[in-house]
Amino acid sequence: MFYKQLKSVDPQVYGAIVQELTKQREHLELIPSENRVSLAVLETLANPMQNNYAEGYPGRRYYGGCEFVDIVERLAIERAKTLFDCDHVNVQPHSGVPANMAAYMALADVGDTLMGMALAHGGHLSHGHKVNFSGRCFNVVQYTVDQKTERIDYDGLAKLAREAKPRIIVSGASAYSRVIDFARFREICDEVGAYHMADISHIAGLVAAGLHPSPVPYADVVTSTTHKTLRGPRGAIILCKQEHAKAIDRAVFPGTQGGPHMHTIAAKAVCFKEALTEEFRSYQRQIVANARALAEELMRLGYRLVSGGTDNHLMLIDLRNKGMTGVEAEAILDRVHITVNKNMIPYDPETPAITSGIRLGTPTATTEGMKEDQMRQIARLIDTALTHPDDEGVLERVRAQVHELTQSFPVYEDFELPD
Ligand SMILES: *Cc1c(COP(=O)(O)O)cnc(C)c1O
Repeated sequence: MFYKQLKSVDPQVYGAIVQELTKQREHLELIPSENRVSLAVLETLANPMQNNYAEGYPGRRYYGGCEFVDIVERLAIERAKTLFDCDHVNVQPHSGVPANMAAYMALADVGDTLMGMALAHGGHLSHGHKVNFSGRCFNVVQYTVDQKTERIDYDGLAKLAREAKPRIIVSGASAYSRVIDFARFREICDEVGAYHMADISHIAGLVAAGLHPSPVPYADVVTSTTHKTLRGPRGAIILCKQEHAKAIDRAVFPGTQGGPHMHTIAAKAVCFKEALTEEFRSYQRQIVANARALAEELMRLGYRLVSGGTDNHLMLIDLRNKGMTGVEAEAILDRVHITVNKNMIPYDPETPAITSGIRLGTPTATTEGMKEDQMRQIARLIDTALTHPDDEGVLERVRAQVHELTQSFPVYEDFELPD
């Protein structure tokens, strides 16, 4: 049983945790970067390896007493190598942004030119945004999506790369619903003499299951979080070709991190074991099928999806034809306990604090067992709420239907709390 000690030692923290658990059970979670880890992963996160200092790598630590944490780090590395079919893996990055920092430090020097996708077009802050270290440490050039197709403009990207001659070109995104052509990135990188770094944080589960082409054959370095579609603990990994192995390991430690979080690395090992199963592959197939069903029903209800649909686990809705902004839609859906996030759409006329869009994804709902029928129902619930923003009675009915739905797909049922 969890939290018996905590409940008596710190009732305030315990109380907040119980409220969070209740929210995860009752609300419908559609944020595409979230998921629900298995109880095995959750249990592993609360293990005594948390107390261990293990600077260095298995067999070459700067501290004694590392023989048991070496077991889990080696398991995590071997399983990740099998899962992604790559030469070398570093499982120590604390999270996605630190993984990208280490990868940039391994391949480039401060002041070099870095090319990434603009945040407003679906890229990530750590791909060169000016408020992030990546935008402050590098000379940044940003590529965009085509205004008409709303897909990556590869010809424009190639032209920009020929002019800017970047040291690194980053592929990968946080709000892009289409297949990414990693082979094309490789061609462009070869033409201009750049390294190709792919950041598959969002689509790692799909890549592991063979539902999105893998960047491993086409990238010098691949980074990924482990907590999004991959459904593991919060953290990240770096995959690379053998020639970059030493540079990557040195860039993680001592380059940008100190002691690894060994309890989290143990949980990563468990996540990779789960991800190697047929059950996980069928879970990933359902994520994609669910996204397609949700997208189709939303379009049938008159919503415009950026790029006209989705190939992966997420979609962006352009709300302009509904006379509503992203921030308004997020607030209305919050009132009916559907959690989404406002998001810039490409060429958005609104500011990042307002936005014209919302971003939806299916990984969490799919973990909870929902299928295409529930996705169509969710699309209708979203539509009812958004078309009756001022009708308390309607919103209350939608909220009750959301609770009915989430109760039929329970979260952490075996998670026992103390009396
Ligand atoms: C989520 C994400 C990250 C950052 O991960 P954190 O764990 O939040 O630091 C980096 N890159 C991409 C593409 C992401 O989607």
